[in-house]
Amino acid sequence: MTRSFETAIADHHVPAEAPWSGFVRKGQTIRLIDSEGQQAVDTIFYSAGNFAERYSAQDTVRTQGAAYIGTGTKVISNEGNVMLTVVADTSGRHDTAAGACSCESNTVRFGHETRYLHACRDNFVLEVGKHGMGKRDIVPNINFFMNVPIEPSGEMTIVDGLSKPGDYVELVAEMDVLCVISNCPQINNPCNGFNPTPIRILIWDVGA
Ligand SMILES: [Zn+2]
Repeated sequence: MTRSFETAIADHHVPAEAPWSGFVRKGQTIRLIDSEGQQAVDTIFYSAGNFAERYSAQDTVRTQGAAYIGTGTKVISNEGNVMLTVVADTSGRHDTAAGACSCESNTVRFGHETRYLHACRDNFVLEVGKHGMGKRDIVPNINFFMNVPIEPSGEMTIVDGLSKPGDYVELVAEMDVLCVISNCPQINNPCNGFNPTPIRILIWDVGA
């Protein structure tokens, strides 16, 4: 869909490695733009009216019968409700199996010297805290623009992202949601091309 940036009601530039959160009302459209390409955008959705209702990776992949997030995916909550629908996707690959990076997992995967690198879990803790939530409210997330092919054998590995500069994914909210994002700071695997970069977030009102 070709919407004009000028008609957006919100336009956020999220720096490399930073968190972001914002509300998207029912019927509004949110577009996440991978400004420079190959940037994982770790994302969790919460029902705006009840934060205990939140994104469920398991229910989403089971309901659609497919492992990846893409055009047509209905984002399902832990209560079985449709939270958003993916209506556009120019990059073609989004993961919801590989989770978010943390300082702790970095030390296990990449060595103790990575202990002090910033991680998605830190971003999530900071951002959900603004809304009265804490660690227990952080659940398995969507990784927009992250490429984790699942082999016929069942093996899966994070490999180079497919997204090009300016690629985007667009979702229409089916209920009022809080969107919480970590613009992934990971530099030890290819999820960000070993170089975290900024993203841009646009929101259009109902009918725009
Ligand atoms: Zn990360």
